[in-house]
Amino acid sequence: MELGLNNKVVLVTAASKGISKAIAQEFSSEGSEVIITSRSMENLHSASKEIEQITGKKIHAVRCDLNSKEDIQSVFMFLIEKFGKLDVLINNCGGPSAGFFDELPDESWEFAYKQVLMSAVRFIKLALPQMKSNNWGRIINITSISALQPVDNLILSNTFRAGLTAFSKTISEQVAKMGITVNNIAPGYTLTDRVTELIKKRSEQNMISEEEVLSNMVKNIPMARMATPSEIAASVVFLASERASYITGITLHADGGYIKGLF
Ligand code: NAD
Repeated sequence: MELGLNNKVVLVTAASKGISKAIAQEFSSEGSEVIITSRSMENLHSASKEIEQITGKKIHAVRCDLNSKEDIQSVFMFLIEKFGKLDVLINNCGGPSAGFFDELPDESWEFAYKQVLMSAVRFIKLALPQMKSNNWGRIINITSISALQPVDNLILSNTFRAGLTAFSKTISEQVAKMGITVNNIAPGYTLTDRVTELIKKRSEQNMISEEEVLSNMVKNIPMARMATPSEIAASVVFLASERASYITGITLHADGGYIKGLF
């Protein structure tokens, strides 16, 4: 299937590791010009090198703390100076702190608000004017199953990801006539390095095998396994493609059937 992503300019945020690094690689394999951001230049360089070795295409790395408005503006200035446009914006961020309502101080709420909601709002605000002038654009937010079905100890993620989903739906309607689509991907449990570390830690803490930890984690997933980062990346690339031109305002569940709701 021809996805029409060759030479598209694609920004993937928080992409030195995990799901977003796999997304950057998938776009690079499609021939896109990919810009990745993260807080650490060292991690960005190693991610760029790894992807470049696989795809043979240059990856552009820019440092950006998503909680900083100034950093977000500099990333945008960099890519407009270098490429003159942005075609595809992938808003990803690190997961907000876990915790129950009683345990979280105001500072955690303020941090998560900037990290999850405001980072996406700020990038979208910068991206839209030139996507409108090109009459083409794709915006995809990486959210979570927590936006669809609250997870007990993830109240920050539940709250701000639901907010981002509502924001995106609103914006999607306002730009739909201009060739711009705005969608979300809600990944279910995905076996990134961070999750592998978590499994190791739980196995040590509870003195059970890593296999047992993993099988407890997947017991409510109909597919009985976690996603690979590249499976999530494939859904993102499809939504960004020319072939997904009539899909906007949705949240695509990439969760192995975990969410039980009909929509
Ligand atoms: P990860 O921890 O492996 O990668 C997150 C990336 O975000 C890293 O590169 C990290 O350096 C970067 N980052 C964190 N805070 C940042 C900040 N303030 N500024 C810039 N960069 C920052 O995460 P992942 O497992 O790939 O997950 C990606 C997203 O998907 C997260 O928001 C996560 O909550 C969500 N998600 C993950 C899963 C899963 O099982 N892995 C499931 C559902 C949702």
